[in-house]
Amino acid sequence: MIASDLRTGVERLGDMIAAAKVIVPFTGAGISTEAGIPDFRSPGGLWTRNRPIGFDEFVASQDARDESWRRRFAMDATFAQARPARGHRALASLYRAGKIPAVITQNIDNLHQASGFAAADVIELHGNTTYARCIGCGQRYELSWVKERFEPDGAAPDCTICNEPVKTATISFGQAMPEAEMERAAALAQQCDLFIAIGSSLVVWPAAGFPLMAKKAGAKLVIINREQTDQDDVADLVLRYDIGETLGPFVGN
Ligand code: NAD
Repeated sequence: MIASDLRTGVERLGDMIAAAKVIVPFTGAGISTEAGIPDFRSPGGLWTRNRPIGFDEFVASQDARDESWRRRFAMDATFAQARPARGHRALASLYRAGKIPAVITQNIDNLHQASGFAAADVIELHGNTTYARCIGCGQRYELSWVKERFEPDGAAPDCTICNEPVKTATISFGQAMPEAEMERAAALAQQCDLFIAIGSSLVVWPAAGFPLMAKKAGAKLVIINREQTDQDDVADLVLRYDIGETLGPFVGN
C-alpha cells in the first residue's frame, strides 16, 4: 500500500513499529544524502559524474588505482564532515530501545556507528570507506597512511607486507561479497517481524534480495524511498517521502 500523504504514512509506520518485536532496517545511500553525502542514482549523484571502477580493473591497472584513490581523497572532506542525519538518529533510538538488534547497510560511510550503533551491530554488505585494506593479505591501513604516500606523486601505494594493492575497505563491483555479513543479514531478515528498506533504489544485487527474503519469511515490509522501486508492489507500506521527514518523528532521546 502506498501512503497517500506523509502524515498518514508516518502514523501507519508508527503503529507497525509499536506492534513489531524485532525490526531490521536495511539502508542505502538515500539515508545519508541529508548528511551531505551524494547517492549514486539521484540526479547529480556520483554515478552521473564518474563511471565506477570495477574490482578487476583496480587489480589490473595502476592508473585505475591512482584514479580510485584520487576520487576517494576528493571526497575526503565530505565523508569527514558528515554527521548522522535524522534517519540514522531515528534508527539509533529504536536500537537503544531494544527494538532493533542490528542494521543491515549498503553504505560505506560509517554513519550508523557514529549515530550510536555498536560496530558489531552494523552489518556492512559493501564495506567501509573510512579505512583501507590490502587486497592480498587483508592488513588494515588508515587513510592517513595512504594519503601520506599518495600525495607526493599521486601513485596508489602497495602493502608493506605482501606488496599487493591497498584499497578502501569497500566492496567494488565484481568483488566477492563478505560471507559472514551475508549470512548474518540473511539470518536477521528471516528472524524479524518488520523489515524497513530505507533510501535504496534496490537495484544493486545481491543486497537487494534481503527485503524480498524477509517478506517471504513472513515479515511485514516497509519501503521508504522518494523514488519508486521494483519491490514497491510486494511491500506492505510504501512511503515515497523524504527520509528525514518520515523518520524524524522517531528520533528519541
Ligand atoms: P542508490 O543511489 O542507488 O539509491 C538511493 C535512493 O535513495 C534513490 O532511489 C533516491 O531516490 C533515494 N533518496 C536519496 N535521498 C533521499 C531522501 N533524502 N529521502 C528519500 N529518498 C532518498 O543507492 P543504493 O541503493 O544504496 O545503492 C548504491 C550503492 O552505492 C550502494 O551499494 C552503496 O554501497 C554505495 N554508496 C554508498 C554511499 C554512502 O555510503 N553514503 C553513497 C553513495 C553510494
